[in-house]
Amino acid sequence: MRVDVLTIFPEIFSGFLNTSIIKRAREQGFLTVNLVDIRDYAGNKHRNVDDYPFGGGPGMVMQAEPIFLAVEALLPGENAVRPPIILLSPQGEVFNQDLAAELAGEERLVLICGHYEGVDERVRQFLANREISIGDYVLTGGELPAMVVIDAVTRLLPGVLGDPAGAREDSFAMGLLEYPQYTRPRSFRGMEVPEVLLSGNHERIRQWRRRQALERTWRRRPDLLARVDLSAEDRHLLEEIIRSARSEDRKTVL
Ligand code: SAM
Repeated sequence: MRVDVLTIFPEIFSGFLNTSIIKRAREQGFLTVNLVDIRDYAGNKHRNVDDYPFGGGPGMVMQAEPIFLAVEALLPGENAVRPPIILLSPQGEVFNQDLAAELAGEERLVLICGHYEGVDERVRQFLANREISIGDYVLTGGELPAMVVIDAVTRLLPGVLGDPAGAREDSFAMGLLEYPQYTRPRSFRGMEVPEVLLSGNHERIRQWRRRQALERTWRRRPDLLARVDLSAEDRHLLEEIIRSARSEDRKTVL
C-alpha cells in the first residue's frame, strides 16, 4: 500500500516510520509512505500556508490552494479514479477497526493533516472524498491521527504480522474484546497464571478464552455485544456468565 501524507510537519513522522512493525513493513515493501510538505506548494517566499479566517475569530486557517496543488501534483488527471483522499478532522466519521479493515483493502491512501483552527472548508467540500476523526477530542494537528490510521491499517495488510491469527483475534476484530493474555513466569509475586492455560488442552483453552472475551465485552462494552453474531455456544456461555454474575450479586447483598 502507498500512503501519501500531506503535512506541514513531516519531521514528526520519522520516529514512527522507523520503529518496529511499521519500519519492517516499509523495508519489506508492504507499505510506502510518501511525506509531502504542504509548504512546498506555498505561493510565497516565506512558505506561509495559513491566513486569518474570513469573518474574524481566533487563530489561523490553512489555505486551500497549497493543499489542492499538493494533491494535484500527486494525482494528475482529473478523470482518473481517485483513491480515498482523507481529511483528518474531529468532525469526520469516527475511526474504528471496521474502517481500518476497509482501508486496508485500498492500494493507495492520501491523508491530509490539518493544523491551527483547521483547513479552508473548500478542501473538505471539493478535494477530500472522506473525512476521518480518531475520537471525540481535539488535537493540535492531523499528524497523530494520520499515524493512528497508518498503524491500524498497516497491521492488517496481508504479510505484515508474522502470525496473522494475532490480528484476527484482536479486540474488535471478532466484534468482542480480546481475552486476557499472560506470559512467563507462571507465578509472579504470588499472582498465578490461570491453570487452564498451562493444561495443554487446546479445546479447554479455546473455551476459556471465548468465555473470557464474552465476559469482558459484556461487562465493559455491552454495546459491542448487541452488534456481534453470536454462535449457539456463545449464547450458552453468555447465559452462564450472566447467571453466575447475578448469583454473585445476590451473595453480596446477603
Ligand atoms: N477547529 C477545528 C474544529 O473545531 O473542528 C479543530 C481544528 S484542530 C485544532 C487542527 C487539526 O487537527 C484539524 O484540522 C485536524 O486535521 C486535526 N485533528 C484534531 N483533532 C482530530 C481528531 N480527533 N481526529 C482527526 N483529526 C483531528
